Amino acid sequence: MAFDVAALRQDFPILGRSVHGRPLTYLDNAATSQKPQVVIQALTDYYTQGNANVHRGVHLLSEEATQAFERSREVVARFLGLKESRGCVFVRGATEGINLVAETWGRTHLRAGDEILLTALEHHANIVPWQVAAERSGAKVVVVPVTPRGEVDLEAYRRLLSPRTKLVAFAHVSNALGTVNPAAEMTRLAKAVGATVLIDGCQAAAHFRVELPALGCDFYAFSGHKTFGPTGIGVLWGRPEILDALPPYQFGGDMIRKVDFDGTTFREAPERFEAGTPDIAGAIGLAVALEYFMTRQADAHAHEQKLLAAATERLLAIKGLRLVGEAPEKVAVISFLIEGGHPHDIGTLLDADGIAIRTGHHCCMPLMKHLGIPGTARASFAFYNTLEEVDRLAVSLEKIRKMMA
Ligand code: PMP
Repeated sequence: MAFDVAALRQDFPILGRSVHGRPLTYLDNAATSQKPQVVIQALTDYYTQGNANVHRGVHLLSEEATQAFERSREVVARFLGLKESRGCVFVRGATEGINLVAETWGRTHLRAGDEILLTALEHHANIVPWQVAAERSGAKVVVVPVTPRGEVDLEAYRRLLSPRTKLVAFAHVSNALGTVNPAAEMTRLAKAVGATVLIDGCQAAAHFRVELPALGCDFYAFSGHKTFGPTGIGVLWGRPEILDALPPYQFGGDMIRKVDFDGTTFREAPERFEAGTPDIAGAIGLAVALEYFMTRQADAHAHEQKLLAAATERLLAIKGLRLVGEAPEKVAVISFLIEGGHPHDIGTLLDADGIAIRTGHHCCMPLMKHLGIPGTARASFAFYNTLEEVDRLAVSLEKIRKMMA
């Protein structure tokens, strides 16, 4: 299938709207992506024709809903390059997935003196749960520095790994800078010292093909809303043998094998971690989104890299504009600063031109501190963005730069 971005944009109704009288230029995809009509329709169809609670129902609607829900798990497994879906746990999003691991794995595996190795570019969602787990267990959080270009300092990473390292948790892709971390290599090094590895895949899943067997990690988390699916649904993948040995995260219906006032036994993964009625519509919508994306993934990545190259060149030509994060391996995320201009002002002025970007610390306060800046302006692209939108961004920024000079 040829990659026709104009035709593809027709699949995303919101891209046709205007903002402040201008056509919407949506460059805040790292915060959340837009949804194709097939996803919106899948949610409507489910609620108009298919709504029923899953599991244990003997009536047709419940059977259909259960089948659709479990089929979604199969799609997720395929999306992650897995042969079996049992390790795919539906959660609210990456945040809940990481919290689940920090709570259940952390409680059972971390001891005083252990080390949790994080990188300086982590999102707060991959920092705070570990800080809390460390406080509770007496373990210590150790941080791998980031180079001025915005890459994880691999020399320091190697040095900081030791037999004390019980867990390594890092982002596959930095949401603030776009850096793609060498996840397979980092995992291999962590495994060599016997550490368990969690990868926060929130920003990777929407940009390129993720093959978990090739990565070799133990846990991988991502959010549906950043991968063209609905909000409120996401996935934590864990090795089934690790998941089965963990205590449950929450307790209630569906996750039990047998309940008795004398004692309760729990099911294996994934149900073990899916207490209560799940987000059935969300899971169905997510599967449709992933299927939509998978058929376009390779072309999408090539197109995004073109957008990244064009935007980088255009922005660097603007006097006083400085890029923050210049790793050679990046997804189409561009963080920048303009001399004399506060990022929030840049964001507000771009908004007046219909251009949506994000400004501030991007939930990476430690990274901003590490880089010695309060925040950045960040334009983040998806496969439905165009070279024309890159042009609009550059023209608008040039105008803003003159206002700020
Ligand atoms: N990790 C990264 C790298 C992210 O970019 C985000 C969202 N900005 C999260 C975790 C948290 O994702 P969510 O809010 O969907 O749980």
